[in-house]
Amino acid sequence: MKAEIITIGDELLYGQIQDTNSSFIGESLTAEGIEVVFKTSVGDDINRITEALDVARTRADVIIASGGLGPTQDDLTKKAVVKAFKRNLIFHQEILKQIEESFRKRGSPMPKVNQNQALIPQGAKALSNLWGVAPGIFIEDDETLFFAVPGVPAEMKWMVENEILPALRERKPRHFILHRKLKTTGISESAIYEEIERLIDPKEDVKVAFLPGYLGVDIRLTAESGEERHAQVKLDEFEQKIREALGDFVYGTDKETLEKVVGKLLSEKKQTIAVAESCTGGLIGARLTNVSGSSEYFERGVITYSNQAKTQLLNVPGEMIERHGAVSEQVAILMAEGVRKLARTDYGLSVTGVAGPTGGTPQKPVGLVFVGLAHENDSFARKFMFGEDRNVNRERAAQAALNLVRLFLIKNRSAA
Ligand code: ATP
Ligand code: MG
Repeated sequence: MKAEIITIGDELLYGQIQDTNSSFIGESLTAEGIEVVFKTSVGDDINRITEALDVARTRADVIIASGGLGPTQDDLTKKAVVKAFKRNLIFHQEILKQIEESFRKRGSPMPKVNQNQALIPQGAKALSNLWGVAPGIFIEDDETLFFAVPGVPAEMKWMVENEILPALRERKPRHFILHRKLKTTGISESAIYEEIERLIDPKEDVKVAFLPGYLGVDIRLTAESGEERHAQVKLDEFEQKIREALGDFVYGTDKETLEKVVGKLLSEKKQTIAVAESCTGGLIGARLTNVSGSSEYFERGVITYSNQAKTQLLNVPGEMIERHGAVSEQVAILMAEGVRKLARTDYGLSVTGVAGPTGGTPQKPVGLVFVGLAHENDSFARKFMFGEDRNVNRERAAQAALNLVRLFLIKNRSAA
């Protein structure tokens, strides 16, 4: 369904009033999934309004015109409609009664000119007007759904929401477009593409788009169908295939965050975690505690930025820091073990790295990060090489650390 909006009134062309009606109508139609393809403004001139209607009928399925429905000589919309749609005006006794009634309610006699407003084009439906007198007009023929509404914004809005949108919903061909995001981390866009290329068929009805970011690549799936259920099933099937191809690189869908997934895995096992952060400066703790209910499994986080803090709080021997450097596999493991012991949790997680831009050396360049994980008798660290940007390095280190916990937890889950 394609729509055109026509706003009528000299004052719109003079620039004396802002055309807020067309913004409102455009927004309402777009929200309904109806594409607005043209917006026309025309003055109070019967021939030009007719011309605008004629043109609109050739290029839109839905036309909504606002303004010029009043009873005075400058309100010409109905006359133009009669010309464009080649219909006569028919007098409706019951509409006149409604108009008289609305004047009676306001306690004033109905001026004679208002009788005109009981004239409606042949075959058209009158649309009720809660806030005013002039009824709207609805003409439905083989090609076009045409609506005319008053120019007064409150009257227009009420009519659009209560008369027009319901009519359009009834007539709109049913069509559903569903999206789903599969979220990955720890794998590049091109590596994903190599794994799932064979699944992507341009003729298939699930469309695939890659949305890379520095914390991971989201894969957006889009399915269309006349049946919502059918589109849903297509997404489910395609998601399954991608999960089979990518395995644990997929950590969640749509609004699931990595910290939520980690939290859920810990809750399931009724296990707890504590964090010792150096270069991430609290980012991991902040992300874990972003999730409501995280107190169930998150015990504490410490920011041990200096060597002294690593020794004092985590019991990392100064001699180990001297020998291997603060950014090293050994120190990462000792930090993880240290915070686990301090907090008496099931897991200790640590990060130590060179965030940059200064502080890099040929052996320990900017972007080098170690993530340590301690669990019972099982402690290890992983090395990561990120890039040049300090903030990106810090964010990526936090992401990698959370992901390491996730991978450890799911591996243990399938082993159990
Ligand atoms: P009435 O019965 O009050 O004459 P009408 O349908 O004839 O209503 P118009 O005379 O075109 O409507 O406009 C009435 C008032 O509504 C205008 O003076 C203006 O303030 C406002 N209006 C008209 N068109 C628009 C528009 N496109 N955007 C915002 N306001 C508008
Ligand atoms: Mg008017």
